[in-house]
Amino acid sequence: MISALMPTYNRADLAFERGEGAWLYTTDGRRFLDFAAGIATSSVGHANPHLVKAIAEQAGKVMHVSNLFRVPQAERLAARLVEATFADSVFFCNSGAEANEGMVKAVRRAQAKSGHPERTRILCFEGAFHGRTLGMLSATGNPTYLDGFGERAPGFDHVPLNNMNAVRNAVTAETAGVMLEPIQGESGIKPADTRFLQELRAMCDEFGLFLAFDEVQTGVGRTGKLFAHEWANVTPDVMSSAKGLGGGFPIGAILAREAVAKHLTPGTHGTTFGGNPLACAAANAVLDIILAPGFLDRVQERAAFLNTELDAVIGDFPDVFSERRGLGLLIGLRCVPKVADVLAATQAAGLLAVSAGDNVLRLVPPLTISEQDCREAVSRLRQAAETVRAATLETAS
Ligand SMILES: *Cc1c(COP(=O)(O)O)cnc(C)c1O
Repeated sequence: MISALMPTYNRADLAFERGEGAWLYTTDGRRFLDFAAGIATSSVGHANPHLVKAIAEQAGKVMHVSNLFRVPQAERLAARLVEATFADSVFFCNSGAEANEGMVKAVRRAQAKSGHPERTRILCFEGAFHGRTLGMLSATGNPTYLDGFGERAPGFDHVPLNNMNAVRNAVTAETAGVMLEPIQGESGIKPADTRFLQELRAMCDEFGLFLAFDEVQTGVGRTGKLFAHEWANVTPDVMSSAKGLGGGFPIGAILAREAVAKHLTPGTHGTTFGGNPLACAAANAVLDIILAPGFLDRVQERAAFLNTELDAVIGDFPDVFSERRGLGLLIGLRCVPKVADVLAATQAAGLLAVSAGDNVLRLVPPLTISEQDCREAVSRLRQAAETVRAATLETAS
């Protein structure tokens, strides 16, 4: 008989009762070091006292009033994001996919209302991941995810990443904008080249296209800057955020320049839950931590330490890991054996990670991770690598 929970996930047989910082404790008393962080989402660690207090206090006052009224927590959160980024205006929603849907709507509408209703198509990239709604499945373009869900939503074209010739050849009179992750997450931590991002920006300016960044996974400090595009010094016209923004509380956002945002006039877009007082209190508490002076510098230092240690692991286990990718605390280790086997050994060693495409083991700890916890993770990863090596040798003999 089918489980009461729909069988959409192959879940690990672990149930956590509580967490503290980078640690998770199971109902049966085992503890795990969490380098999965709810898929790059628990940005400030588990049971972070500042976040817990903000949520509890807001829940005790008012959680939800709808967007028929002013929401001071949302006004404050939007003002802080505007202050800290390229954006002039922000829309709040509830997830990454929903933010991306709204981002594409914003791009299309801005083109339509500035004299180009024919410009509806969005140029996307092979290996992209933009979410699971019908529209974003089509933007993602991965045939595995589309199988059995009928016709693709129209209006999304795909070209290889980091190939400017392919981009130029794919742009037509109907192209409205270009959408990409500065570092592709789900498909295996594959960065867009800095030069490529700069050339995309120049091309969008030349042809009047909008540049849209999906920073759902790369944003909110994950790479050591508030948003990953800052490393390339390339600013988009519109950007999506979600995952780490609420530190585990669901919230998404569309951040846009005025030229795009001004066309989302009353009645053009909406959400019941989006930007409610509780979600915005959570995200404001996350920003208190991430925007505090020195925090992102510490993320960069921690990442430098961890990545040096990981390079040593790769050096010692070339039969298990072939390559490290990523930026800051968005880390991918390409595996030699099947990533599923490495992930199982990692978990058995008490370290949680996430697999990604291209046989990559993804390590995305909370941004608040301590150096000591990084050392512990590396030691557990070495233990896992020994197990995998032993198993491989056994199969070979
Ligand atoms: C996770 C993710 C999404 C989808 O976010 P949901 O909150 O699961 O809808 C979209 N884009 C990127 C880059 C992601 O990593």
